[in-house]
Amino acid sequence: MPFHHSTPAGVRRARPAAAAFLTWFAIAVGPVGAQTTLDDTEAAIARAVESNQPESVELLERIVNLNSGTLNAAGQRAVHDALAPHFERLGFEVDYLPGSPDRGGHFVARRRGSQGKHLLLIGHLDTVFEVDSPFQRWEWVNDSIGRGPGANDMKGGNVVIWSALQAMHAEGALDNTSITVVMTGDEERPGRPLEQSRAVLLEAGRDADLALGFEGGTDGLGVVARRSSSSWRIDVQATTAHSSGVFRDLVGAGAIYEAGRILEDFYSEIRGEENLTFNAATIVGGTEISWDAESARGTAFGKTNVVPPAVVITGDIRTLTDDQLERTREKMRQIVARPLPGARSDITFTDGYPSMPPTEGNYALLARLSEASEALGHGPVEPFDPGRRGAADVSFVASVIEAGTDGLGPSGSGSHTVRETVNVRSMERASKRAAILMYRLTR
Ligand SMILES: [Zn+2]
Repeated sequence: MPFHHSTPAGVRRARPAAAAFLTWFAIAVGPVGAQTTLDDTEAAIARAVESNQPESVELLERIVNLNSGTLNAAGQRAVHDALAPHFERLGFEVDYLPGSPDRGGHFVARRRGSQGKHLLLIGHLDTVFEVDSPFQRWEWVNDSIGRGPGANDMKGGNVVIWSALQAMHAEGALDNTSITVVMTGDEERPGRPLEQSRAVLLEAGRDADLALGFEGGTDGLGVVARRSSSSWRIDVQATTAHSSGVFRDLVGAGAIYEAGRILEDFYSEIRGEENLTFNAATIVGGTEISWDAESARGTAFGKTNVVPPAVVITGDIRTLTDDQLERTREKMRQIVARPLPGARSDITFTDGYPSMPPTEGNYALLARLSEASEALGHGPVEPFDPGRRGAADVSFVASVIEAGTDGLGPSGSGSHTVRETVNVRSMERASKRAAILMYRLTR
């Protein structure tokens, strides 16, 4: 069986063995085995991508210039309205579905058929740049690099979705296929509860067989796994007194030494597992403190002659599997539960993005992507180090699909910064690769 990637040890099967093998076999081998050349239809689809590049770039510039910061719900609607006619032209039914009350809605485009795998294509409408950000407009850096808010994360990816589907449509390759496109309106800061803000995406995942995420990519690398992202908060309370009494039995260590002990124990006892990171992001301690979780801002007041009664620490945890997350939380609880004298601490965990663990199905899907890339003359696609890809929406459907991948979008740099750029030439390559992969998966 001529496929690229043997599955590394310890890779979990997404489903019971027999079903997982059949899934893997069906994805890995496809109807006619490894295909590292283009057939006539595929060659025509690739040419159609080249033809729609001017319209793709024009569409990208237009939606980048529409502010859609996560908290700007009207902005989500505007980007939706700019994209919808482009998808309706390809025979998709397009809806703008509500998410959380305090967030924008979701772009959902559907077409139904009975041929091949049902694909779920994932993007997001929002960016991290709100209406008061100085970064609002598209500009050309040179003839292949554009700079702008969300150019790479991920309005470029949204346009790659359209460009690939348009090319398939141009060659009649969308006929009788089942494809759903979901671009969430709040990926950068999902509304709460997640069950509500991610309900549309999860339902689309249950309906589909395979999920393809179009977040920014890196040439030659593909995603087989994504880490989870969740947060923690520690509240330390301690006896306060005049500082001359610190360390005495009736006074104890104070809240700040206790906080230091916890962080030192986290660092020395938990750190080191592969694909596990837990950042300590903020700390506020002293005689009088305040912490506003919504704005992530705090204040502290304290005189040197007072033993501090309070500390608040916040941070995140990123893991490859849910099991790794549970084990890490348990270790943290145990460390917090053995305070220094005179102090006591509580740790609370808040769920965030789940993980997409590496599965046989994901590796097999990557093998198909690599074949399509080779057939286009773009070279093989290797697995991205799972520890190096942050959280993303594809993870929300990882447990209900046969297999998933991400990073099918264009390459660029400086995401989440005012230096964000996208490589427009990589958009064409990404669109061709995605179109050929989707064509093959829907035969
Ligand atoms: Zn993104």
